[in-house]
Amino acid sequence: MLSYRHAFHAGNHADVLKHLIQIELLNYLGQKAKPYWYIDTHAGAGAYSLVEGYATKNAEFESGIARLWRRDDLPEAVANYVEVVRSLNADGELKLYPGSPWCAAEVMPASDKLRLFELHPTDHQLLADTFADAGRRVQIQQANGFEAIKAILPPPPRRALVLIDPPYEDKRDYQHVITALKESLKRFATGVYAVWYPCLQRAEMKELPKDLKKLGAKNWLRAELHVQKPSSDGFGMHGSGMFILNAPWTLPQTLREVLPYLAQHLAQDAGASYVLETGGDL
Ligand code: SAM
Repeated sequence: MLSYRHAFHAGNHADVLKHLIQIELLNYLGQKAKPYWYIDTHAGAGAYSLVEGYATKNAEFESGIARLWRRDDLPEAVANYVEVVRSLNADGELKLYPGSPWCAAEVMPASDKLRLFELHPTDHQLLADTFADAGRRVQIQQANGFEAIKAILPPPPRRALVLIDPPYEDKRDYQHVITALKESLKRFATGVYAVWYPCLQRAEMKELPKDLKKLGAKNWLRAELHVQKPSSDGFGMHGSGMFILNAPWTLPQTLREVLPYLAQHLAQDAGASYVLETGGDL
């Protein structure tokens, strides 16, 4: 089942949370003068137009990145994220939105490598086009990312961020996330792993953070941004979360500043809120 197209959602509140934390994690890894890899199991198209095509249908970016675009009071981590979006919009107009592979390529040292997996044939081709000039730094495979990471873990530099960002349209994705992480931690226990998930009133969603906490990583961090109160009929996404395994010690403090700011400025009703929880040695 490959009906999901990320272009419909590009730049929405969930992308803001995901890409902001992704950039924080990469910047932290980049502080040491030692190589590292970025591995994206569900990479998407790499970059998205906000002025034509799917993204204009529901214009989800208007209640996401567009609300931050012209603000001059951004906390540092939010400013770093908006700066990456600016790298695609040199004339100052918000016309393009970077996907997770673009965010990574923009902030990582030029010598560090990206390994990207995308199963959808159209998005795989768009991703390949986005990085057509990137040379051997960026390797792209049309493959099932849950399975394909087995072959590249542990990565040669023994340092990496792995982003796992499935569509969850198939309920089995919840179990696939847990299985892939169990196997990945066996192969590469010290990797930094970031899992994105939607906040829904579905049983599987409520179980996911509980199962992630039990994986036995050195530490974990759960960050959720709820942009509205859960709907009374139980349908719809009221927010999203990022669950990090082996998070840097600096991340909780950064998010204590960022999450209240995002809950205030990306709120869609009075029920907007956030969750920040940590465990292990964090
Ligand atoms: N990570 C991207 C970003 O932040 O810009 C967005 C990814 S989107 C949420 C999920 C992507 O996973 C879609 O492009 C979809 O085609 C792709 N996909 C679905 N199942 C997959 C699988 N098993 N392996 C790799 N890609 C998959």
